[in-house]
Amino acid sequence: MAKMTVEDFNPKGKRVLVRCDFNVPLKDGKITDNERIVRSLPTIRYLLERGGRVILLSHLGRPKGKIVPEMSLRPVSAELSNLLGREVLFAEDCIGDKALDVISNLDTGDCCLLENLRFHKGETSGDDAFANSLASLGDVYVSEAFGTAHRPHASVYLAPMKMGGSYAGFLMMKEIEYLGSALHSPEHPYVVVLGGVKLETKIGVIDKLIEIADRILIGGALSYTFLKVKGFNIGNSVFDEEFVNEAENALSRADALKKQILLPVDHIVAESVEVKRGTYIDNIDIPDGLMGLDIGRETIEIYKQALRDANLVVWNGPMGYFENDAFFVGTREIARAIAETAGKKIVGGGDTVSAIKKAGLIDAFDHISTGGGASLEFLEGKELPGIIVIRDK
Ligand code: ADP
Ligand code: MG
Repeated sequence: MAKMTVEDFNPKGKRVLVRCDFNVPLKDGKITDNERIVRSLPTIRYLLERGGRVILLSHLGRPKGKIVPEMSLRPVSAELSNLLGREVLFAEDCIGDKALDVISNLDTGDCCLLENLRFHKGETSGDDAFANSLASLGDVYVSEAFGTAHRPHASVYLAPMKMGGSYAGFLMMKEIEYLGSALHSPEHPYVVVLGGVKLETKIGVIDKLIEIADRILIGGALSYTFLKVKGFNIGNSVFDEEFVNEAENALSRADALKKQILLPVDHIVAESVEVKRGTYIDNIDIPDGLMGLDIGRETIEIYKQALRDANLVVWNGPMGYFENDAFFVGTREIARAIAETAGKKIVGGGDTVSAIKKAGLIDAFDHISTGGGASLEFLEGKELPGIIVIRDK
């Protein structure tokens, strides 16, 4: 299980390929949030300070194998230069002569960034020749892109495999340690909070963690499929017909294992998500024509109680349609309750992290996973290609 990290090889003089996740939001060619870049800096600095020739790789957006100028990584190289206080060279292609020219000019302790990997079809299709071209650019490979670790892409799996495996960067290592502890060595009481919409991506997590955690609190859009399965009226709330059987199974497994799955007992409802104010309903049933858009005050109280003694909390998915302030209270209160618990607090999911930022509580969390889908698949107990490929200790 223990994986090798950047601390397990000497980078001096070596061409070190580092697969990062620089998939940053861009608006009119400007980076609107540089967090993903900032979080890779410790690994990049570590390698540069030890005389590595650092070659950074990433994808950005979904250009689908074509050159899409708006998805160029050039703005990222400028941002990296600023953050590192040194020039980060940019190569206009991630393989071939354009890449090799820039790389051959790197001195020890120099750094360059290669153009968007997904400008080549071979990246997402996992093409062998493309992976060979990538692998030929360096001497060692570092995996630092947890967000794509669940994808068997050329730069995630094939290229490092061809180099005998990779080494984990510091950010990747932190993901493996925290999420791994939630799966293999959790502190108890262990409470899982699940919300959001994508039952498809979260049902597997419920299935796995119901065995390990002490209780699961469910809110957000996905709670209505469970309520409907239990025979309640959910009005126009989000309903995931495809996953009715899975939801039923999860509930009966929880019973068999004597674990609790908690569901909302009251709601804030409205006719649509755009209204200025929702209506409180002191009932599990939701009348026809209305949607449940946030958990109600009694649910908040029950969930707070269920969190109070937690020594480990894993949270994925907001409790309501938090983008509208009218439906933000449940998510904000649960975020506060989690922040107040004494133990380890782990959070994943792009929207959940936005909601925590909106609540101003981001610093209260011990680990903010950089991978939404990847963290869910990890917590399901799946083996991720981008982690398998990291050398074992
Ligand atoms: P994450 O990105 O954290 O994994 P998801 O993408 O699964 O979370 O879900 C987040 C989305 O779910 C948000 O846009 C939020 O508004 C929406 N949502 C949460 N609760 C509800 C609800 N009751 N009805 C409709 N949408 C909801
Ligand atoms: Mg989301």
